[in-house]
Amino acid sequence: MRFAIAVLSAAALAGCGGGPYAQQEREVKSQVAQYFNSLNAEAALMAIDAKATRSVADAPSLGRTMNTYDWRIDGYVVPDVTCPDGKCKAKLGTLAYTGVDLKCPACGAALADEINRLGRSLPMFEIRSGSALPIVVIVRYVRKVGVYDPSSTVSVTARTQEAIPVESFTGRDRRDPRNYYAGGFHRPDSAFIGTTGFVYKGGELRQIDPASVGKMTAMPPENVAVSAMKLGPTAAVEKPLRTWASIAPAPTVEKAPE
Ligand SMILES: [Zn+2]
Repeated sequence: MRFAIAVLSAAALAGCGGGPYAQQEREVKSQVAQYFNSLNAEAALMAIDAKATRSVADAPSLGRTMNTYDWRIDGYVVPDVTCPDGKCKAKLGTLAYTGVDLKCPACGAALADEINRLGRSLPMFEIRSGSALPIVVIVRYVRKVGVYDPSSTVSVTARTQEAIPVESFTGRDRRDPRNYYAGGFHRPDSAFIGTTGFVYKGGELRQIDPASVGKMTAMPPENVAVSAMKLGPTAAVEKPLRTWASIAPAPTVEKAPE
């Protein structure tokens, strides 16, 4: 089955706009949330579409890669975290908090105290225009990329097949008579920390060009006047998110043969 999908852009989510600051602040918060919700809703449809496919040739009409986004209004990103546990000390790299308490993936130590101590968390939603209008926000998020994989199969023994006839739910994989096809899916591939920005004007979120976002988030940050920004649908600034599990061990120096 194919799903027709309307591409929801930030512009399609226009609110009223033009009200007093407090009202516009509420609108910006809700529109940024809707921005990520609609992107994730597209991904959810892609996942359903992938599940209905049966071979590489029958790849989802929506594409082979699927993006899902982790974002929340009180979320934050913390660079360069090292596990505080004396015995562990795992270098965890950049971590993102989106509502789930952060723990060291190596030893399970809670990281909240350490993150507070570091004091360099970058908020996922940051108003950069003070109390002036138009409201300018910097938005940070995690983008997870999944790659379409049609080869999801489940091996079922003859005995199980006798007790629970799965054939009525799924097709048999032609390559191996014991395997049953379980639908395609998107295999987790890579993740990125993204930084972008929006100007809220006339009830619409207008995305800020990556060069301006780069200046605004540099150390130390630079102020960019709205009139100097290029606004419109544009690219975000993204950096690969290397999770702890994917960091390659330090190269070992090979001993010359004796
Ligand atoms: Zn640890």
